[in-house]
Amino acid sequence: MTTELQDPDILLVRYGELALKGGNRALFENALVRNLQGALKHVGGGEVIRRWGRIQVKPAGRWREAMRACARTFGIKSVSPAWNTGRDLESMIAMGRRLLENKLQEYPPGSRPSFRVTVKRADKTYPMTSGELALAIADGMLDEDSTVLIQMKNADIDFNIDLRPEGTFAFLEREPGPGGLPVKTLGQGLCLLSGGIDSPVAAWCAMKRGLKVSFVSFHSPPYIGEGSRMKIRDLIRVLAEWQGPSTLHEVQFADIQLAIREGAPESLRTILYRRSMQRIASHLARRSKTGALITGENLGQVASQTLENLACIGAAANIQVLRPLITHDKEDVIVLAKHIGTFDVSIRDEPDCCTVFQPRKPALRAQAPECEAIEAELGLVTLEEAQVRASAKEHIHPGS
Ligand code: ATP
Ligand code: MG
Repeated sequence: MTTELQDPDILLVRYGELALKGGNRALFENALVRNLQGALKHVGGGEVIRRWGRIQVKPAGRWREAMRACARTFGIKSVSPAWNTGRDLESMIAMGRRLLENKLQEYPPGSRPSFRVTVKRADKTYPMTSGELALAIADGMLDEDSTVLIQMKNADIDFNIDLRPEGTFAFLEREPGPGGLPVKTLGQGLCLLSGGIDSPVAAWCAMKRGLKVSFVSFHSPPYIGEGSRMKIRDLIRVLAEWQGPSTLHEVQFADIQLAIREGAPESLRTILYRRSMQRIASHLARRSKTGALITGENLGQVASQTLENLACIGAAANIQVLRPLITHDKEDVIVLAKHIGTFDVSIRDEPDCCTVFQPRKPALRAQAPECEAIEAELGLVTLEEAQVRASAKEHIHPGS
């Protein structure tokens, strides 16, 4: 007969050591605790305790949701649901049996998964060494009828005992976290978000390197419909599951596109749209202490993405432009988009404003001075300033 396993007492959260070098340690750890508290708020709350290079989370709501939220917090290496157990051998063996019995339900009858016991002894006052204790636990847990096979390397089931001064914890699972650096420890970025596959992935990559990312989306009614607006919000809802509540600036772009269509050579349209986006985004960034723009641009993927065109587009920004995907293959970006959860939204068939009045033969080697002359003649800066003033700002919550 199997007994229902009770909920874990805590979630053991591990984080990367590399970033902990030197004076950044406190900054990194404080941010991680803050970000975890923020992530838990959306799944019923909980307590976050920092202890000796580890973080322990006591979820107040459903633990599986809390675990998922932790495993989506940048800076975290892995999370384990863990149970308190006594420091005596009998308690550890009894806990091991319960966890193993529960785990074996996932295996088909007759299968013989491999098994090992791992002991970590942060508490060096314990009278046995880690190796001795692991052996004694395995010995006590298994008998001739056991369906598991002892195997030291790459065992299917690894029963862990973590002996720490504040308690003894038992666990089997280790869910990988995303790694990287805690969001906001490196400052803020503003991502130009289209409804495509690339820019949401670029935003995620920037978050992973410690940036808090806001978004700007250019929208062109009546040429582009409500479906595109919804798509942008759905993408941000997914990304907010990784970095927390996020800000979206929506800028009306139809006036600017019309001015470009009327007064500029057709082949330069896409480049001029993009340059205008860079100027408007730079404006918005300066208003909110943002250190970089982020785009999903990728070398050679579409006609506007030659080296010369990228330089010509980037020259219109007056803060630095990060292009996290610049050398990625499309297939790799798709794998990432699926992992992040944005792929299914991105492939919804909705037009982007850049497809409006698209040139039949786009220029492959646009030059900034030529673009600047046309922009001056069209008075684009005045139109752009008006759209910055009229832009709307909203806050989007994870999965809401
Ligand atoms: P994506 O898959 O992100 O659309 P892409 O490879 O299709 O990228 P383009 O469509 O040429 O390339 O867009 C290049 C970049 O310009 C986008 O990654 C995005 O950062 C920005 N961009 C394009 N359209 C918009 C828009 N309507 N609003 C905001 N940013 C945009
Ligand atoms: Mg696109």
